Amino acid sequence: MDIEQPLNFRLAREAFRWDGVAHQPYKQDGEAPFKDISRQVLFHEDALACELRYFEMDKDGYSTLERHEHAHAVMILRGHGQCMVGEEIRDVKQFDLITIPGWTWHQFRANAGEAFGFLCMVNATRDRPVLPTAEELAAMRANPAVAAFLGS
Ligand code: MN
Repeated sequence: MDIEQPLNFRLAREAFRWDGVAHQPYKQDGEAPFKDISRQVLFHEDALACELRYFEMDKDGYSTLERHEHAHAVMILRGHGQCMVGEEIRDVKQFDLITIPGWTWHQFRANAGEAFGFLCMVNATRDRPVLPTAEELAAMRANPAVAAFLGS
């Protein structure tokens, strides 16, 4: 991993950027399961065995629909949008807190007409996300609220 131990004090800059933090737009092509999202790793602390990342979507962007063994602790930091945890879909806004348990499908969507960003805490050592199979996706879409959230 290309993460250096950060300096003790790093300044916030405008527009949800920070000194000494690489802004990493996700590579995107027609097959990508995400859209218009970037990642910034704010803390990677071996002593704490965790990472704190800031993800941000442009208007109409979304994170990958995925699940994995590790959990997430999330705070919305910018704007409004929606979040799906399991089959529960909620409107969420700045400073709301969201827990995503292990092996639970989840996705964030910037579907409220503005940029939408969140802090996400994870274990430094963690399993890789799994994407839904076509069958799992069809089963999820059988719930009309989930189908509407996921869109076409
Ligand atoms: Mn995840």
